[in-house]
Amino acid sequence: MLNIVLFGPPGAGKGTQSEKLIKHYGLTHLSTGDLFRKHLGEGSDLGNLAKQYMNEGRLVPDEVVIKMVEQKIADTEGSKGFIFDGFPRTTAQAKALDSMLEKHDLAISGMIALEVEEDVLRARIKERGKTSGRADDQDDQKISTRIKVYLDETLPVADFYRNQGKYQSVNGVGTIEEIFASITEVIDSY
Ligand code: AMP
Repeated sequence: MLNIVLFGPPGAGKGTQSEKLIKHYGLTHLSTGDLFRKHLGEGSDLGNLAKQYMNEGRLVPDEVVIKMVEQKIADTEGSKGFIFDGFPRTTAQAKALDSMLEKHDLAISGMIALEVEEDVLRARIKERGKTSGRADDQDDQKISTRIKVYLDETLPVADFYRNQGKYQSVNGVGTIEEIFASITEVIDSY
C-alpha cells in the first residue's frame, strides 16, 4: 500500500498534484482543508469550530484534526492507500498519524515536499483566490499568517520524516506535468 504525505507551504500545488496522483495510482485523497471546508459548508459543529481558525489562517487544534482524520481512515475501507494533503501540519499530528496507521498495520511510505519560493506562493494563492471563493486566499494579511504558521509550526514536520529516512523534496515550480513527473519518479522508486 502507498501512503504518501504530500508536503509544502500553502500555494505549493498540493491539491492540484493530489488530484492527479489519486487518479494515476488509484489512491484516496485525504485533504484536511477540503474536509474542513465540507463541514463548513454543511454548517456542522466541527465546521463552526474550524471556521474561526481558518478565517484567521491559524491551525485548527491538533485533537480536532486528529479525530477527523481517524474517522476518515476508519470510514475508508479497501483503499489502496492515501495521499495526505495538508496533514500532518504539526509534529503532534505526524506522531498521531503514525500510531493511527500502525493500528491498521500500515505505515507512511514517504513524504514528498514541494519546494516553491515565497513570492511565487503569494502570487499563486492570490490567483487561486479569484476563483476559489476562499476568504483565506484573498487577503494579504491572512496569506502572511498562513505562511508564517507554515514556517513556525509545520516545517518541523519535515524533520520528523527526515529522521525516519522518508523525506524527499521536488521542485514545485514548472508546469503541472513537469512537477507531476518529478513526484511519480519518487513514488515509483519506493
Ligand atoms: P488548506 O486547504 O490545507 O490550505 O487548509 C485551510 C485551512 O484549514 C488552514 O489554514 C487551517 O486553518 C485549516 N487546516 C487544514 N488542515 C489542517 C491541519 N492539518 N491542521 C490544522 N489546521 C488545518
